[in-house]
Amino acid sequence: MIPHLLVGCDGLNSIVRETLHQMSGRSHLFEMQKFPSPSSGLKYKVLSLPPQFPLSEQPGDISQSTMAYAIRSNFKGRNKAISLGLLPLKNQDFPRTANIIAYPEHQIWQLKTKEEIAEFFKQAFPQIPIEKIISSEEIARFTSSDGGKFPVPQYCEGLYKILGNPDNNEGTAVILFGDAVHCFPPDIGQGVNSALEDIYVFQEILTETQDNLSQALPQYQKIRQPDIKALIRLVQISYPWQYNQDPLQKRLWSLNFFLRLVLSKSLPFIFYPHSFVMIQNQELSYSEILTKSNRTTQILLMTIVILILFFSTKFSF
Ligand SMILES: Cc1cc2nc3c(=O)[nH]c(=O)nc-3n(C[C@H](O)[C@H](O)[C@H](O)COP(=O)(O)OP(=O)(O)OC[C@H]3O[C@@H](n4cnc5c(N)ncnc54)[C@H](O)[C@@H]3O)c2cc1C
Repeated sequence: MIPHLLVGCDGLNSIVRETLHQMSGRSHLFEMQKFPSPSSGLKYKVLSLPPQFPLSEQPGDISQSTMAYAIRSNFKGRNKAISLGLLPLKNQDFPRTANIIAYPEHQIWQLKTKEEIAEFFKQAFPQIPIEKIISSEEIARFTSSDGGKFPVPQYCEGLYKILGNPDNNEGTAVILFGDAVHCFPPDIGQGVNSALEDIYVFQEILTETQDNLSQALPQYQKIRQPDIKALIRLVQISYPWQYNQDPLQKRLWSLNFFLRLVLSKSLPFIFYPHSFVMIQNQELSYSEILTKSNRTTQILLMTIVILILFFSTKFSF
């Protein structure tokens, strides 16, 4: 049986995209274009915690599923400090997950036995009853798991290929969604949203074109490509320093963030908030957010140049 439409939503190492790449000969249409980010290459592992766990030895002091937690370690220093990041959950009966994200050289990744890991957690988090929170089975699973690495921000130009004439039952249209065409570190939490938006945009176009694949697919690529490019740029600039890789860069980021926040509140017709804030606004497309962010950057740079010129002229007399 030959399908009319093949949907390639098989993640970063997409076989569908790779096959299209091999079929395209010398064209780079389905080759991932990669862009640097300070958060790429960070290693992560996930710890599974009970739905409600004790926060201290005090009776009744237990975690709430709808609250996010960042539990900082007692340890300091780039290769020893660690934190447990827990995202909120609506269902209070679901187990919680805590992401551990650190440089590949971090001490935690050098520990080989479950006893070493258990001791590390005990010393790192004396403020919480860690032995009552993480079971020995979970420590063993965590120790043996390989974990993963944050990918480099990347996308490919080609979002579809039409083989033959699928609208006349004589071929197959192939379309790519999600991480198969745009993949990046989770700094701005847009991996799932952007994959769902791919599908939403495509179904809108299918409705407009009355399911004519030969019209819908090129139209989809034309509409979606600018947003995918903008999304990859936003990942690079929005909040790559959040994992404590470099305290100075994190402070500079905070300065930039609060400057834009204050300016956008006092002069909203000139300045926009930081892109990390605008991303939370579902009414703005990724292209619109990037345009607004770049515009604010240009105005800030122009203001700095004008101030430097003003003061240098003032002090030269
Ligand atoms: C540590 C980490 C934290 C993240 N946090 C967030 C977050 O907070 N918010 C957010 O929005 N995003 C987050 N992301 C990103 C998010 O997980 C991805 O962007 C999202 O899962 C992409 O969805 P997808 O369906 O395109 O790909 P995937 O989720 O990778 O799904 C692809 C599926 O295809 C299947 N598959 C692959 N090959 C084959 C094959 N040959 N045959 C059959 N099936 C196959 C796989 O098994 C998998 O089920 C995070 C990513 C990481 C690594």
